[in-house]
Amino acid sequence: MRASNAVPKYEVGGISHLEQLRQLEKFFYDGFEFERFYADITKFAEEKLHLEDGRPLALDDLREIDGFVRRFFEKKLADVELWVVRGFVLGKLIERGEQVPALRPIRFEDLPTKVREAAREFSLTARETRALEWAVSHGAEHLTNATNDTINTVQQVIFDNAKNRKGYRALRRDLETEFFDNDSELNRNWKRVAISESNNAFNQGYIAQIGGGEWVCGFSLPDACPPCKALIDGRVYPVIRPEADMSYSHHAPESHERAKYEWLWEHAIWLEKDNFGRSGAERKRINKDSGNQPENLLPREHHEKYMPAIPMHPYCRCRWVRLNPEKMYVAGGEMKMRVMNEAAWRAWHDSVILPLQAGLAQYAV
Ligand SMILES: [Zn+2]
Ligand SMILES: [Zn+2]
Repeated sequence: MRASNAVPKYEVGGISHLEQLRQLEKFFYDGFEFERFYADITKFAEEKLHLEDGRPLALDDLREIDGFVRRFFEKKLADVELWVVRGFVLGKLIERGEQVPALRPIRFEDLPTKVREAAREFSLTARETRALEWAVSHGAEHLTNATNDTINTVQQVIFDNAKNRKGYRALRRDLETEFFDNDSELNRNWKRVAISESNNAFNQGYIAQIGGGEWVCGFSLPDACPPCKALIDGRVYPVIRPEADMSYSHHAPESHERAKYEWLWEHAIWLEKDNFGRSGAERKRINKDSGNQPENLLPREHHEKYMPAIPMHPYCRCRWVRLNPEKMYVAGGEMKMRVMNEAAWRAWHDSVILPLQAGLAQYAV
């Protein structure tokens, strides 16, 4: 299996997980129905706003636009649950397929659509169910943010149109650019929801199957960003059962507690570990509204920096794969079997696994 310059393929029932993830992202994104949204909002604007008269927009107009966009995307909240549940179950099935190859390919339409259904059909543990619920609410939160951004953008475009008396035809064109142009902020926002939430759900479903004491190896796509290449691609980590609270910035800088959590964040993986509030940049701005001149920059603290977690960031398509470090090793970004080269395994094991085991022994949770 290659990690760095080819896509790792994990054949399950003849289908690689990557194809399925792409499909999942696409179904998720298509579910937002932008074509219909565009048709509906332009019709709405034509009927309600009388843009040709050069009449200034009233507060009521803006409120109506707000309500219209909100109603449209609130209906999509049910789809978020559907696709997050399916992504999670997909991760679980892929993991299962690596243990016992599946007899038939996974078909999305056969998978559950609700957390409760998934919990029943797949006998999810309480811990898995909680992780799945968390992934659904994460997705719902991001959908709500994208909805709010959409409301702002639509209002801005309409407001600008009315102010400059551009007329209805220009409005259609301007909204079309905002919705469908690949580089538009809005379009990227919605793609980000579909891609990030699919991948998050898949990885949660997968990692939920890996018990404390087991190990994972990270794989990134060839075009992955520098932090993913550095912290995930080909890197091996132990999976631990986390404590209820893994935050640590409140511990004194030189304390044992602080050292312990810093070590665990850098060297271990757990279900629901995320990079929320962290960044890949080494430094941060003191005044957020000022530029990057040296006197406005401070080094980021430990709890503000990216740690190995998937997804690392929105759009991350990296994934974890279970690895048994007593039987396998990683060389040149590939997972290899110990039996093929005992000496190479030994050297890798001594330099990569033993230090991690020593850290675990010291800081074990
Ligand atoms: Zn990345
Ligand atoms: Zn990544």
